[in-house]
Amino acid sequence: MVQKKRNNLKKKIFIKTFGCQMNEYDSNRILDITKKINYFPTTEKSEADCYIINTCHIREKATEKVFHDVGRVKKEYKNKKKPILIITGCVAQAEGDLILKKDRYVDAVIGPQSYQSINKIIKEIENKKDQHNITDFETIKKFDELKLVQNHNSNVSSFLTIQEGCDKFCKFCVVPYTRGPEYSRNFSEILNEADELIRNGSKEIILLGQNVNAYKDKNKRLSDIIFALEKKKDLIRIRYYTSHPKDMTKDLLDAHKECTKLMPLLHLPVQSGSDKILKSMNRKHNIKEYLKIIQILKEKNSRLKFASDFIIAYPGENENDFIKTCELMKRVKFINTYSFIFSPRPGTPASDMEIIDEKLAKKRLTTFQNIAENIKINYKKQLLNKIVKVLFENKMKKVKDKYFGRDEYQNPVIVDSKKNIIGQEKKVLIKKFSQHTIYGEIIDTGNFLAA
Ligand code: SF4
Repeated sequence: MVQKKRNNLKKKIFIKTFGCQMNEYDSNRILDITKKINYFPTTEKSEADCYIINTCHIREKATEKVFHDVGRVKKEYKNKKKPILIITGCVAQAEGDLILKKDRYVDAVIGPQSYQSINKIIKEIENKKDQHNITDFETIKKFDELKLVQNHNSNVSSFLTIQEGCDKFCKFCVVPYTRGPEYSRNFSEILNEADELIRNGSKEIILLGQNVNAYKDKNKRLSDIIFALEKKKDLIRIRYYTSHPKDMTKDLLDAHKECTKLMPLLHLPVQSGSDKILKSMNRKHNIKEYLKIIQILKEKNSRLKFASDFIIAYPGENENDFIKTCELMKRVKFINTYSFIFSPRPGTPASDMEIIDEKLAKKRLTTFQNIAENIKINYKKQLLNKIVKVLFENKMKKVKDKYFGRDEYQNPVIVDSKKNIIGQEKKVLIKKFSQHTIYGEIIDTGNFLAA
């Protein structure tokens, strides 16, 4: 009877998440926090009592898209009870006032540094208080509160935010304005949360931060966290992103040699191959320094491969600058790239700069992406008939006996298996690949030919 009454009090919360892994981590933590006030996650977006849109300012026309998303929610709930609608994330931080003013359907905007207040806000909205704008930079308070809330994430591969914000002020980027200054979490709290994740079944931990390698808690650096995680018995893999070349310190470079659980793929954004453009972006590194890091890392661990981010057609980029970017791509042979045409973000210094002709920008992007694609295809061809280690994350929903995992370089791999292999790392013989996926067969014996 008591149980039944309790269940009646249960409410449903749905979160639509856009953007980076840090937003995914935040969404999961919001779900952990709101359990305290009896809101439980639903995957049904049309039956929520509380609907959250966790936004990303990197999306083009981000604010406009928020209003479209709100419109969709209104439509979805036209003949139903209105859910509590909260906008969180970087657009909430940057455009909170505008959102609340323009659409009364939105009950609250909460910035990324203020999720610790969410239960109080939901309760106040339930009690019909007015709209709320909570967008102070309260990073310390946020993590003080979060450490008291258990992380229920039970994914095989889990995100763990260790650092937030950025002091680098690249001219194109909104992060320093939406996530605030660099803040590093307490070292032992991070390890406690890692233990929770491992107890819940995580086999891979991905350490996150806007500037993850700027992590500094007293004398502890990112490498100290990696070395500490290396010792955790049930943890198989460690990754970290996103890094800045300026913060690739010696201790971190050494970790790539000494930590066997640290995966041999490094995402190291470079943005352009031209020193002139890097200077104009205020990136604080040049190509010579960037290539030096790559060289040292390769010497420390010859299995290392690299991924990167590129902005094509940044204001002032001429043909020569663009050629340098293509040359860098060919030289490093990044196995994964994220490339976009420059698009101005309101409030950033680069938003006032003169943009490059759209047709020319598109042509350069296509040229660049073709080079990147060819490199990727050649890389994948080399994987054929090789044996790779795959950590299996889930069973595929629509097809029978197929499991999905990732190899050490984060390539998605699918295999057939009658047995449940979730959470296990297996040797897989690569048989074929498509544009986005690699297919293989589990092998139990045989020599390991590192791909
Ligand atoms: S280092 Fe990264 S997060 Fe910081 S301003 Fe530059 S692009 Fe943005």
